[in-house]
Amino acid sequence: MNIHEYQGKAVLREYGVPVARGRAIFAPAEAEAAAQELGGPVWVVKSQIHAGGRGKGTFKEAEAGDKGGVRLARSVEEVKAYARQMLGHTLVTVQTGPAGKQVNRLYIEEGAEIASEFYLSMLVDRATGRIALVVSTEGGMDIEQVAQDSPDKIVTVTIDPATGLMPHHGRTVAKALGLTGSLAKQAEDLTAKLYQAFLAKDMEMLEINPLVVTKGGELRCLDAKLAFDGNALYRHPDIVALRDLTEEDEKEIEASKHDLAYIALDGTIGCMVNGAGLAMATLDIIKLYGEEPANFLDVGGGASEEKVTAAFQIITADPNVKGILVNIFGGIMKCDVIARGVIAAVKTVGLQVPLVVRLEGTNVAQGQEIIRASGLNVIAAEDLDDAAQKIVAAVRGAGHA
Ligand code: ADP
Ligand code: MG
Repeated sequence: MNIHEYQGKAVLREYGVPVARGRAIFAPAEAEAAAQELGGPVWVVKSQIHAGGRGKGTFKEAEAGDKGGVRLARSVEEVKAYARQMLGHTLVTVQTGPAGKQVNRLYIEEGAEIASEFYLSMLVDRATGRIALVVSTEGGMDIEQVAQDSPDKIVTVTIDPATGLMPHHGRTVAKALGLTGSLAKQAEDLTAKLYQAFLAKDMEMLEINPLVVTKGGELRCLDAKLAFDGNALYRHPDIVALRDLTEEDEKEIEASKHDLAYIALDGTIGCMVNGAGLAMATLDIIKLYGEEPANFLDVGGGASEEKVTAAFQIITADPNVKGILVNIFGGIMKCDVIARGVIAAVKTVGLQVPLVVRLEGTNVAQGQEIIRASGLNVIAAEDLDDAAQKIVAAVRGAGHA
């Protein structure tokens, strides 16, 4: 789960991490009070969306101006003007995709006088099964470019969970950033605090870009991107409360209500599968035959008829879906339950696109009989390969019709 920058900074502040003072606002009318409370003389008005690259982003609407999604303001009037321009408008960044994201919240922050900008992140490194700390002197807005062009400028430190963060890790970070004296001490202290926050809140990723040294000689986190492990959220109601549903895919929200493992993708073939492995194989084989899946969906081992109906409704509600492939292996899940769920769903929502069904396993004969008897226009498939070829052919046929 992702949260906004201002929320992330509030989480980090609890652990004593140095972040600037700021105020979140939701409407232009709140800008003046926020700016006055902070006092100035320099403010930064920051778009709050769940995507990076805001500074270099561009708004779709002309009235939002061309100064990007993060703007330096030198007066209260300027803060107000930027708030009016940015709120409600659509920001496109390298991370949002061409559709962009509507800016519904702004963070007004004390402006920092930056002497140098660094990069620092922590993440769960699946290759080593450890938390990795990644730092670079080349902070600011183009870390992806640095990783590509000069990977030697990126230093990675992995932390042994048996010892946790040790003082030498902090010293390695300070050295990698070329910091000495008081700044080195601050870097060691910051590393320890970030690690503590990372563990305590079950984060998946924590990225500070840029981490800056101010002209006053202080280390400060100017940006904060935090992502949390979804499987551990039950332990953190305070984090769950920060969830912003407007930032998430509507279909995924609906699916999570029904406890379905659903991920929206950009293709045209809607997939309803049981078991994550079979779902992955289904996506692979659709791609093998030259089409793209519209989603990943694992209805789970013990799905009820209602759950199957809900899943089917989510798939058919997606306007990109030009065909549906139901691929079920009945183990614990029974094929007749799936068949009844599919029929019930088709009766409620209708069927505008070709539907290929491949059933195998427990009660397969009953399942096939239910579908046959329904009189619905369903294309039956023998096996996975057959199913993939049939749905690809059906989708292409529809496209040319
Ligand atoms: P993004 O990574 O989405 O572009 P950032 O929060 O990193 O957004 O802001 C972009 C840039 O704006 C930063 O690299 C930094 O140079 C500048 N900036 C951000 N916050 C402040 C601040 N409080 N004071 C001064 N400059 C800032
Ligand atoms: Mg940034």
